[in-house]
Amino acid sequence: MRKFALCLIFVFIFCALSLTYALTREASVEKIKELIVELPDSTTVTEIDEITNLSYARAQLKKFSPTLLTYDKSLVKGKDEKVLEKLIEAADYIDQIFLRQAYYKNEEILKNLQNSTKPEDEIYLRLFKINYGPFDRLREFETFYGTGVHPKGANYYPVDMTKEEFDSWLTNHPGDKKTFTDTFTVIRRQGDGLVAVPYPQEYKDLLEPAHKALKEAARLTDSKDLKSYLNSRADALLSNDYFQSDMDWMDLNDSTFEVVIGPYEVYEDTLFNYKGAYEAFITLNDPVEAEKLEKYGTYLGELEKNLPIADEHKNFKRRLTSPIKVVQLIYSAGDTRAGVQTLAFNLPNDERVREAKGSKKVMLKNVIEGKFDKILTPICEKLINPSQQKYLSFQTFFDQILSHELAHGIGPGIIIKDGKETTVAKCLKNNYSAIEEAKADTLGAYNLLYLMKTDRYPEEKMESLMVDYLAGMFRSIRFGIHEAHGRGVILQFNWMMQHGGFVYDKNTGYYSVNFDKFKPALDGLVKKLLEIEATGNYEESNKLLKAYCYLPGYLQNSLNSLNDLPVDLLPVYEVKQNPIK
Ligand code: ZN
Repeated sequence: MRKFALCLIFVFIFCALSLTYALTREASVEKIKELIVELPDSTTVTEIDEITNLSYARAQLKKFSPTLLTYDKSLVKGKDEKVLEKLIEAADYIDQIFLRQAYYKNEEILKNLQNSTKPEDEIYLRLFKINYGPFDRLREFETFYGTGVHPKGANYYPVDMTKEEFDSWLTNHPGDKKTFTDTFTVIRRQGDGLVAVPYPQEYKDLLEPAHKALKEAARLTDSKDLKSYLNSRADALLSNDYFQSDMDWMDLNDSTFEVVIGPYEVYEDTLFNYKGAYEAFITLNDPVEAEKLEKYGTYLGELEKNLPIADEHKNFKRRLTSPIKVVQLIYSAGDTRAGVQTLAFNLPNDERVREAKGSKKVMLKNVIEGKFDKILTPICEKLINPSQQKYLSFQTFFDQILSHELAHGIGPGIIIKDGKETTVAKCLKNNYSAIEEAKADTLGAYNLLYLMKTDRYPEEKMESLMVDYLAGMFRSIRFGIHEAHGRGVILQFNWMMQHGGFVYDKNTGYYSVNFDKFKPALDGLVKKLLEIEATGNYEESNKLLKAYCYLPGYLQNSLNSLNDLPVDLLPVYEVKQNPIK
């Protein structure tokens, strides 16, 4: 009886979701048509190199598919509308700071492009806005406009400063080490020397109004947690001390909004990876997904018990240390908006906060849905056997992503090796991430199949789950098979091919799932990966990765056929199209 009731709840949730999904999709198609202004056609261009640059810019622009990001407006009522307005105002200042951080000439170039009457500049302007500068983020910062060369240290350091100069300065001035390598300072020239300038001083003109907007949002909101976070974060923008506000962010529970605003990731600084880039995520908590996650959370013990490994390796004490939230992205700004769009983030980065409170994983459901529609679906139309294309389903795809995240919290973590307590990560060293990502993917699917068998996930989703599992791989492999995620995916792909779960038809060039062989093949890999983790067996992990991590020729050909498809989204924010008020 209980099982039946649960199953009904699931069916209900899925039906409700599919309906909203269908409705919003239709609306977005209509709106998107209005939003996409046709690109100006080849125009009178005088110089030869400009023609080359222009056709390059045009081709790169086509790689980003404009996508309207909608959110559930019925969840934003009363005072929350005003709060949202203030949050977006603050995010726009943050956006300008990042533009300045990315390249010292950015503001000047932007102004010139905006004021230009040359029709081709419209193309450059659009690509500039996607890349936050004249350098192509899809092609390791190749220049597409003007003659500048991308500085490795972005605008965090003097443009002509070398690594050697920075290092030798610190050798001669050891007292400067802390402020020079700090995440929240920039390095500037002063006379013949170098100085570290704290962010609040460097970006004073933009941080002060951002601070003010956040304080106003804090005053307006009825959420106690959001009030604390916005107040402490507003102060942090001016004091440069983010600790308390990061702690408050981990405690943000009673709010409609999930908000991140400030300097975080250090990847823009390719010289040293020291300096934090400003970004903002203004998002809305998704109550339906929250309920689903909570339910799934109650199964974790049972799923641990169901693992295909010896009982002695199961760990029933292990619980998720990182809360997971599913949100709808309303607006983003700065670092995260540049180039390829983030599907999920895990913050904060401050180890002291992680120690005290763990970290929070936030998944952007509407961005994932956009990528499913605009990137994954066209890929599958080219590569998946037409008879199986009807099984592609966003909701199943999304459930697999959630299941992947939860699977990271299941299985061996702390293990005993040679009589000593250690962790899987330490034992598997450089192979750990690839093995753990492959484990999360395979176990994620394995767990959903188990919930199906025990009537807690709709059984009619079985084929969708298998086809979505195959489909997702093409997208990941397209980004390369050398970093951890890519290695983990190509391992699964080749394993499934060799064990008959996937089939490639060389006559048609289509891939398909063998529904009978899928589960035994998957189970075999789950077992293999969990055993490697449970025993911390580095040698075995090497053997497995060596045997399966390679790109077969037929797959390379398939990937080549995807070259003219878009690689990512260009987010179009509904909130900016229909401003609240
Ligand atoms: Zn993962």
